[in-house]
Amino acid sequence: MPEGRRATMRGNKKKDTRPELAVRRLLHAMGFRFRLHRRDLPGTPDVVFPTRRKAIQVHGCFWHQHEGCRSATLPATRQEYWLPKLARNRERDRQAEAALTALGWQVMTVWECEVTDVGRLGPRLRHFLGFPKARG
Ligand SMILES: [Zn+2]
Repeated sequence: MPEGRRATMRGNKKKDTRPELAVRRLLHAMGFRFRLHRRDLPGTPDVVFPTRRKAIQVHGCFWHQHEGCRSATLPATRQEYWLPKLARNRERDRQAEAALTALGWQVMTVWECEVTDVGRLGPRLRHFLGFPKARG
């Protein structure tokens, strides 16, 4: 299958993006163990804590249209292309989160623009996850 089409079928879901790696690094430093990209779960969550039934999605601000975020500004041109495409991304995010929640999972979204502020993100992650255990 040509790479272009494969990318299309995946949607805009990219693995191992820079913000995602930053979140994983931080979680590691905090002592958490986790799984990545569980394809058997709705939306293939980026970071998964199976025993806690908690998942973290790391979203790019533009592709997932972070509300009120500077980075989510639409390009001035070709809006007839971008608007439906980005709306579909958001809809897909909403559905994945709803499906995960219905399965008894808790989901936290970390936005790309929040990743650099470790002083705020660290406590938020701790609040969501609790404390690390010996086995994650
Ligand atoms: Zn943002």
